[in-house]
Amino acid sequence: MPEGHTVHRLAGAFRARFVGKTVEASSPQGRFAEGAALLDGRVLQATEAHGKQMFLMFSEELWLRVHLGLYGMWRFAGPGLAGFGRRAARVAADEPGVFPPEPRGLVRLRLLTRGNAADLSGPTACMVLSRAEKAVAMRRLGEDPLRDDADPGRAFAKVQASRSAIGLLLMRQDIVAGIGNIYRAEILFRARVDPHRPGREISAATWDALWTDLAALLQDGVETGRIVTTEPADRERSSGKARGHDACYVAHRARRPCRVCGTPVLAEPMAGRMLYWCAVCQTG
Ligand SMILES: [Zn+2]
Repeated sequence: MPEGHTVHRLAGAFRARFVGKTVEASSPQGRFAEGAALLDGRVLQATEAHGKQMFLMFSEELWLRVHLGLYGMWRFAGPGLAGFGRRAARVAADEPGVFPPEPRGLVRLRLLTRGNAADLSGPTACMVLSRAEKAVAMRRLGEDPLRDDADPGRAFAKVQASRSAIGLLLMRQDIVAGIGNIYRAEILFRARVDPHRPGREISAATWDALWTDLAALLQDGVETGRIVTTEPADRERSSGKARGHDACYVAHRARRPCRVCGTPVLAEPMAGRMLYWCAVCQTG
């Protein structure tokens, strides 16, 4: 599932290529024909990301909300497109003279301008909202460290009020919006916090460290399109860019030696996704 940094990158891609342009909207698959008809022929005004949700504003009263979920993705076609996070977005191969490209697979929504196409397939949510409905959707979301309006104190109040494990609370999008499985595992490791520690035992100083680290890692992810949490000295190859298997401390590294202490990384399901951690390093 794309984590928050990818959704912010997608919102940025729409801002750069679609905002201010008249957009043809259609549903090649047919499932979103009514929604697409409401958007068709309008000028895209603004884009916004909040956690894993993206909002496109076509007028004050007309918003599109998209949540990619586990399987959703955008496929872009057009000139000068940069790459995006794996799976969440693909860039169609340049085929001179063939624009727009034929929709591939079950395309729920196609947004098309003179030079750019964006095809959405497999989203968990794709719906048209009024301003009031959009406000309701936003209120359900927790604090997103990539947004200027984020309030870490509000998220901490929810954490402190809970007996649930911090590893579970971090996955709740109504507490911190944008964290997925990899950021959860990595920020807990970097802060040496036991994922099973109840939320109410997390100190303000620990929360502050987790939040600050997450904000920096997410910002880095927006800029690079990758999640890299390891310090160069902790990688197998300490020079150059972190290769895939060197990018994280514990995520997707079950049974492999911890980069810091050498004991095998553990894995167990928590909040519906596999949790990875080091029982020796993470005792805080
Ligand atoms: Zn360790």
